Amino acid sequence: MSVWRDILDYILPPRCLQCGRPLHENTGLCKTCFADINFIVRPYCQRCGHPLETDCADNGQMLCGRCLRRARREFRLSRSAFAYDEGSKRLILNFKFNDRTENARFLAQTMYVAGADIFAAGVDVIVPVPLHFTRLFRRRYNQSALLASELGKLSGCKAETFALVKHRRTRPQVELSGLARVRNLRGAFSVAHAEKIVGKRVLLVDDVLTTGSTLRECARVLRKAGAKSVDTLTAARVI
Ligand SMILES: [Zn+2]
Ligand SMILES: [Zn+2]
Repeated sequence: MSVWRDILDYILPPRCLQCGRPLHENTGLCKTCFADINFIVRPYCQRCGHPLETDCADNGQMLCGRCLRRARREFRLSRSAFAYDEGSKRLILNFKFNDRTENARFLAQTMYVAGADIFAAGVDVIVPVPLHFTRLFRRRYNQSALLASELGKLSGCKAETFALVKHRRTRPQVELSGLARVRNLRGAFSVAHAEKIVGKRVLLVDDVLTTGSTLRECARVLRKAGAKSVDTLTAARVI
């Protein structure tokens, strides 16, 4: 296999996923583009993964204010690899809308590193946030399912890309705010194969975490179907 990869690299040298410059090694991004990505590093909230102020971490409080106030927990743990900002936007948008499915491997590698605490806590099954079939038909692939499959290969955990389905079309969440976002998603998702979920520790995967309402609704449906716990892992998050 590696001989073929060497020949392929010679004919078609790997290119930076962000700027397209040729790379010596298939590292995903060139040094310049890599430096533009704001990876989320400690200190961050041990529960929801939100970056923390250094002094807050110094006090030994490894939870953010929101997690300290909330007794009810939607997710066991949440993590994201990097901030969704000018440095990462193109990488994500090309992956999501412009058929750049080759970005999945690099993104999943960053997610696997960011999700180390989750994998250490134990994952039985990886489930992507689903697309409605009309959108899947138009886009031809579900970007979150590609991430789930790549994470399955990296972690050895099973990826179940059709366990959760979106059976109702919804308005784009960016058009809505607050409660309207929650209402928009109510009843949009369902578990298609409950036997793949019951009693399992589920890792829910998506490309970007914005307000979290989609992940929360998916987690609610998964827990109702009998999931033991739900963690979330995204490539990027809006901070
Ligand atoms: Zn580059
Ligand atoms: Zn938190």
